[in-house]
Amino acid sequence: MKQSVTFIPTMREVPSDAEIRSHQLLLRAGFIRQNTSGIYSYLPLGKKVLDKIEVIIREEMEAIDAVEVLMPAVQQAELWQETKRWYTYGPELFRLKDRHGREFALGATHEEVITSLVRDVVNSYKQLPLTMYQIQTKFRDEQRPRFGLLRGREFIMKDAYSFHASEESLDEKYQDMKRAYTNIFTRLGLNFRAVIADGGSIGGTGTHEFMALSDIGEDTIAYSETGTYAANIEMAEVGNDYPKSDEPLLEMEKVATPDQHTIDEVASFLDVDPSQCIKTLIFNIDGELVVVLGRGDHEINDIKLKNLLDATEVDFANERDVFELLSCEVGSIGPVKLPVGVKVIADHAVAAVVNGVTGANKDGFHLKNVNPERDFAVDEYADLRFIEEGDIAPDGEGTIKFAKGIEVGHIFKLGTTYSEPMEGTYLDENGRAKPYAMGCYGIGVSRIMSALAEQFNDENGLKWPKHLAPFDIHLVPINLKNESQKELADNLYRLLKSYRFDVLYDDRSERAGVKFADSDLIGLPVRLTIGKKAAEGIVEVKFRDTGETTEWQIEEITEKLQQYFERQ
Ligand code: ATP
Ligand code: MG
Repeated sequence: MKQSVTFIPTMREVPSDAEIRSHQLLLRAGFIRQNTSGIYSYLPLGKKVLDKIEVIIREEMEAIDAVEVLMPAVQQAELWQETKRWYTYGPELFRLKDRHGREFALGATHEEVITSLVRDVVNSYKQLPLTMYQIQTKFRDEQRPRFGLLRGREFIMKDAYSFHASEESLDEKYQDMKRAYTNIFTRLGLNFRAVIADGGSIGGTGTHEFMALSDIGEDTIAYSETGTYAANIEMAEVGNDYPKSDEPLLEMEKVATPDQHTIDEVASFLDVDPSQCIKTLIFNIDGELVVVLGRGDHEINDIKLKNLLDATEVDFANERDVFELLSCEVGSIGPVKLPVGVKVIADHAVAAVVNGVTGANKDGFHLKNVNPERDFAVDEYADLRFIEEGDIAPDGEGTIKFAKGIEVGHIFKLGTTYSEPMEGTYLDENGRAKPYAMGCYGIGVSRIMSALAEQFNDENGLKWPKHLAPFDIHLVPINLKNESQKELADNLYRLLKSYRFDVLYDDRSERAGVKFADSDLIGLPVRLTIGKKAAEGIVEVKFRDTGETTEWQIEEITEKLQQYFERQ
């Protein structure tokens, strides 16, 4: 492809609203262009990378008997009403009306559409299992679109859905998918980890996220340094093996703690360690006020709370509700002498606190020498806290470290969550109607392009892995007015194309400095520079990943390139 006829609008300046490297570089190198917040055009270079990512995904999907379809992006509200998601999905769903006033959504995901498609056709166990996937534009009106393609409002997703006549069959496909995803992200060359994720009320081991490791990732991964455990911090379990001191229980005592509100303030005022304090939080859980206790040095994980109580909405209670319940400010609340009927849930660590400190439910006062069971009752102990670096991994293998990750894929056992309300059923061997067991499996195709750009770059630009680069070779003659340079460049261009290399030929009449800067920015694996030694048939070679340069004779070029690209 001649650079003069394609469309690669490179930029020298860093766009002011692009905060992270991948976003800056994809814009500056002319791979994408923003239309409006969270909505982008993929330009020729970006489109070529996307296509290569998609080829890998398609190959791995076909290998596990998933078949490709393309479903509508415009989806009638009635389908979303069947599962109630029309009412619960919230403002992320783009909604619209047709000329007759009928309501529609722009596809944010396709569980409803595919279930309606399958239930019309698949009615016998003999037609199962069935797995279908598509690669398609999705629409989500994200609250905070940002970081370029990482969080768009219009983005490309691969979504697959599987239908089964048994849990075992679903388990099998889930494992197939897990392997296929591992192959995909390995083949893409991403530094990634598969982690246990939050399955909401379905929970269990029925969901994994695939995380591309990156400091700018929005998710935190807790992994074992020496073992294999890895989970989203939202989910990482903590054991309940807290040593309890056998010191004698002292008499409870009320002490004045004027103007001391936070755990740290109170702990330092009373000269105790924050781990001696019992933190009391009041949550509003589906409309009910619930008291949640944790150790002063621990953070309560609201997702664990939500899963424990099988709740839909978990939020801190507002100050007015707290005051109404306990007649004091949030900084002074505690578990002793709570009004009857209030549910109290505590993290396991609280059970091991001896002679602890808590709020006194009276502004400006705390209680010392408070002991669980003796001084207050707990309805249920559970694992409610966030895991911390240095904790023992839940499987006992190694200690926990944290890393940041970008979620590039998510696999999920849905069970009958969609088939039941939508009456997607099949007849089993005994002729009984049963809802399909289902799985869904997503990959953020456009997000992957950003994740790759985030992992493969340096200060001069992008550094595409060989098999994903938009072109193999950047052919850069320095001065096209020079006869021998032009002739050599033209000949080489033809030759390389005949060897089926994909070549970007910089035939623009730009200064050498501009061409080199653009070339580093775009980041093709090999740059062939035709300069002063053209008359001698010598070409300068630069490898983008290592920055290494060398010179090749024109006669040896195709062979050397075939070696480099590992082609026969
Ligand atoms: P997130 O937690 O990042 O919002 P999600 O849980 O909403 O993701 P899924 O519904 O599981 O995501 O979608 C499948 C995949 O689509 C995700 O793993 C992610 O890679 C990608 N994805 C989701 N939302 C976006 C978005 N706004 N922009 C780009 N890719 C996205
Ligand atoms: Mg989301």
